Amino acid sequence: MTHDHPPKPDLQDPTRQYPRPPFQQQPQRAPGLAREMVPRPDHGEESYVGTGRLAGRKALITGADSGIGRAVAIAFAREGAAVTLNFLPKEEADANEVIELARDAGVDVHAMPGDLTDEAFCQHLVGEAHRRMDGLDLVVNVAGKQSWQESIRDITTEQFDATFKTNVYAMFWICKAALEHLPPGASIINTASIQSYDPSAILADYAPTKAAIVAFTKALAKQVAKDGIRVNAVAPGPIWTPLQPSGGQPQEKVEKFGANVPLGRPGQPVEVAPAYVLLASQAASFVTAEVYGVTGGHSSS
Ligand code: NAD
Ligand code: MG
Repeated sequence: MTHDHPPKPDLQDPTRQYPRPPFQQQPQRAPGLAREMVPRPDHGEESYVGTGRLAGRKALITGADSGIGRAVAIAFAREGAAVTLNFLPKEEADANEVIELARDAGVDVHAMPGDLTDEAFCQHLVGEAHRRMDGLDLVVNVAGKQSWQESIRDITTEQFDATFKTNVYAMFWICKAALEHLPPGASIINTASIQSYDPSAILADYAPTKAAIVAFTKALAKQVAKDGIRVNAVAPGPIWTPLQPSGGQPQEKVEKFGANVPLGRPGQPVEVAPAYVLLASQAASFVTAEVYGVTGGHSSS
């Protein structure tokens, strides 16, 4: 095909595409709300365009109210997947925005608020997702807890336990329950971090959970490959989400968030979603036991 006027390419400088530090200090209580962040994160509300890559798929997404999970929920819905969204009840204000955006995409949307540190709830969540969507073939574990502490002396057993329950146990409980339902062709995607490989001194409980997620992902992938189920992880670098100003980082680090990666800024949730879409889709049919970094250049896996 020839063009009299060839289409203008969508060339954008990624270093200038989104806000760069410095940011203002903006303390929130965990789990924090995206709607209270300045600037507001971009989860693809205006920009993500789907092309039917997940048409007819049925996805359970945790942490779906804000940040990376919200961007995944918007992207999956616009790619044609039915979605069951989990979040904490106190995040309903954020969640309602996502539910509306996903419904606008014309797919089935189910809200399942609840606390993932409860094993019985995780089992109920998976069962209900399967029942309400009449199937389940995508499981995306995004929910996570991150609480910085200067010293190991300040990490209480309660914090250590809550971080592992949220980040590791919930993923284990959800995967275990989901494998009762997942058909060949299904895909599980977990959320690791640059912290899996390059841990910060102030994240001595969180970073090990992210290393555990990588090892669990690879082990499970090898175990269920014979069943035709793929298991992968996405490992983001600094992403502009409520996790960070609500206790994930000291406020002085929020001011400079993203400054130390080669692209010089934090990523936006919408920039992470395409990795999940790829890993979910049949285009990634030969990709399993992998960890996909989205780090602004601070790669170290
Ligand atoms: P976020 O705060 O928007 O999302 C985290 C979500 O976890 C919350 O919205 C909440 O719904 C959920 N959650 C927390 N505790 C829960 C519980 N007990 N029960 C149910 N849900 C619970 O922040 P985010 O940055 O989008 O985080 C999503 C994932 O990305 C996390 O696993 C995080 O570790 C990971 N991650 C984030 C970054 C980053 O820089 N933001 C970098 C690497 C990895
Ligand atoms: Mg949230």
